[in-house]
Amino acid sequence: MREAAPCICATLDDMAVVHIGGDGHDERVFATIDVVRWHGDLLWWPKLSRCTACGQDWMIAQEERIYDDHYLKRLTPDEAGAIMARDLWPDDFLCYEAVLRFGQRNSRAFRFLDPRSGLLPIIEDLRKERPGISEAEIGELIGISEKQVVRLMGPEGWFERIGRKLLAL
Ligand SMILES: [Zn+2]
Repeated sequence: MREAAPCICATLDDMAVVHIGGDGHDERVFATIDVVRWHGDLLWWPKLSRCTACGQDWMIAQEERIYDDHYLKRLTPDEAGAIMARDLWPDDFLCYEAVLRFGQRNSRAFRFLDPRSGLLPIIEDLRKERPGISEAEIGELIGISEKQVVRLMGPEGWFERIGRKLLAL
C-alpha cells in the first residue's frame, strides 16, 4: 500500500543530507520543495526553500563538487522570516568550508574528480575564505591526503607561484 503523505519533510532530520541521484530519495524530497530565494552574491550555494505541501521552510546548501549532496537545515518561521525581511541567514552553511565539513562528517558519498580539473578551484576557494588553512585540513575536507594536496598545488606551492606572477606584473 502506498502512503498518502503529501511530502516527506517530517521524515528528514533537522540537519539532513540528501544525496543527489541514487535511489531517487532526492526526487521525493524535492518533489514538493521549491526555491524561494537564493543567497546570491559570492555565495552561490545557499538558498531558502519552502515545501508547497506542508509549508516547512528549509535552508539548503548544494554541494556538487565533492560530495554531490544537498544539505538541509529545518528553519523556524522566524528564521525564514528574517531571511525574507532582512536578508539575515542562519550561519550554518554560509561558509564553504562549513559546507564541506558538514559533508565530511555526514556523507560518505565521494564523487570521483579528476584532480587536475576539479580540485584546484576548490582549494582556491577554501584558501580565499581562510588563508591560514593547512594542506592537511584541505585534504580532510575534499577527501584526499595531505600529500596529494601538496602535490596538486605544485612543487613550490601553487599559491606562491600565482602570488609571484602577480607581483611581477
Ligand atoms: Zn513538506
